[in-house]
Amino acid sequence: MSQQKDKQPIFVIQKHDATSLHYDFRIEVDGVLVSWAVPKGPSTDPSDKRLAMQMDDHDLDYANFEGVIPEGEYGAGTVLVWDQGTYRNLKEGSDAPSVAQQIEDGHATIWLEGNKISGGYSLIRIATGEDERWLLVKMDDDEADARRNPVSTEPDSVKTGRSLDEIREEEAPEDD
Ligand code: MN
Repeated sequence: MSQQKDKQPIFVIQKHDATSLHYDFRIEVDGVLVSWAVPKGPSTDPSDKRLAMQMDDHDLDYANFEGVIPEGEYGAGTVLVWDQGTYRNLKEGSDAPSVAQQIEDGHATIWLEGNKISGGYSLIRIATGEDERWLLVKMDDDEADARRNPVSTEPDSVKTGRSLDEIREEEAPEDD
């Protein structure tokens, strides 16, 4: 299978009101969405280190999912596409490690081009095993801004403009 060299891989951040509210940060790597659950969501402040728990990879087409996952199913709750866009590997050059390799090595640096979130981010693995714990940290670049707090000031869907409540009302299965 030939790679589409010109096509930038995507990322998505899904706000997920499940057992507890969190943000699923997913990046396209080799045809799947490598995924982390970030309880506090991404920060634009380089001094914040946001805990990110690595989760199972998801199918690429899940990046556009917004709606209600029924009770009893994995991830039951409401999902909102909080931000999406493309990203690129910040390590450049012919002998630079791929993002897949960087994730394997436990330290990846990528540049995000989203609507709410942009600029360089580091993903740093801090614990392995059953609980793969990482930190998601904004790099100190032109897109860094300690005064912004998009998680609270821009809470709604980047795709449809809806809030979690509106998605719940519109997409909840009807009771008979
Ligand atoms: Mn989730």
